[in-house]
Amino acid sequence: MMFEDFIEMLDKPRKSRGGYMARCPAHDDKSPSLSVKSADGKILVHCFAGCTANEIVTSLGLNLFDLY
Ligand SMILES: [Zn+2]
Repeated sequence: MMFEDFIEMLDKPRKSRGGYMARCPAHDDKSPSLSVKSADGKILVHCFAGCTANEIVTSLGLNLFDLY
């Protein structure tokens, strides 16, 4: 999947250093905790509240293979 398409699935994505920040779909996120970056053709997701990448993509109706 394209990085831009993934960003469009997120809630209120905002550009940040090297990528985007958005509200995490895997927990009740009050402020943007989800970091999304593109690297080597992969989409890297990281939730600062501790959700796993698998929990995040599952919440979006995707699976981890969609990130590569
Ligand atoms: Zn989260």
